[in-house]
Amino acid sequence: MTLGLRARSFAAWPLLLGVASCVPPASAPPAPPAPQPSLPSAATPGPASAPVPAPASADFTILRGAPVQGGALLGQVPEATQGLALDGKPVPVAADGGFLIAFDRDAATPQRLVATLADGRRHERLLDVAPGSWRIEHINAPWRGGASSDAEFARRRPAELAQIAEARRVDHDVDGWRQPFRWPATGRLSGFFGAQRVYQGKPGAYHSGTDIAVPAGTPFYAPASGVVVLAATTPFTLEGKLLIIDHGMGLNSAFLHCQRLDVNVGERVSQGQRLGTVGQTGRATGPHLHWGIKWRDARLDPETLAGPIPR
Ligand SMILES: [Zn+2]
Repeated sequence: MTLGLRARSFAAWPLLLGVASCVPPASAPPAPPAPQPSLPSAATPGPASAPVPAPASADFTILRGAPVQGGALLGQVPEATQGLALDGKPVPVAADGGFLIAFDRDAATPQRLVATLADGRRHERLLDVAPGSWRIEHINAPWRGGASSDAEFARRRPAELAQIAEARRVDHDVDGWRQPFRWPATGRLSGFFGAQRVYQGKPGAYHSGTDIAVPAGTPFYAPASGVVVLAATTPFTLEGKLLIIDHGMGLNSAFLHCQRLDVNVGERVSQGQRLGTVGQTGRATGPHLHWGIKWRDARLDPETLAGPIPR
């Protein structure tokens, strides 16, 4: 609990981080992951097929997932739903009634899911968002990443953040959001989602993804289908060579520190398709793949979408 409270207070540091950044801890191995509720799909990684839509019901149907900080929930709206909102913000609904909502690492609880029906009635579900539990990780790398000075970082960073924001602005009509996510690469996890990061003694933002430590040059693959919205072949200060895939419905994946990117902006990719190779570009102390997932502005824990990494 102490750890969680410390992490929360650290999160208030005003920092210019975008997709975020990461590095595997240089010395001590990280603590084992804290137990967290995970999606049912996690326990039984299944085929790439989309879940079969549930028949129309008078209530919300949860197809996959749970309300937990850093987690996502796939569901089906009640019959005759005309509009859906989470805490007052509209949520898109697919033609078959499917929808996706997700919860930031620091999401508040409870949250109110409201379906407005054709006859004007409202159908509500109050969601208790279970708390996450976060570590603190000490990183022996300069906070400013690939920039040679704080001044250079301040000069380069705004344009990088603008590119990332622009890439995430457009929502594409793709069905990757329905798929049970697969790990883009498998190996030792060297950094965990949500951990408070301290860079050579300087507190940074929390770790926004999961780090998979594999040798440089190891291929990585699409965790779900989507559209390439950013392929930065010139390394960013923190993220290095960065790839972002839009999975639709506001859900997207980012892959940081790549050595090489094999796909281009605008390209549609299928789940399992090779995307590039792992490297150590940007702020990284060793070769690894940082996989981050966002739903709108909410940062999600890849382990809650893909389940435990296969050994
Ligand atoms: Zn990372």
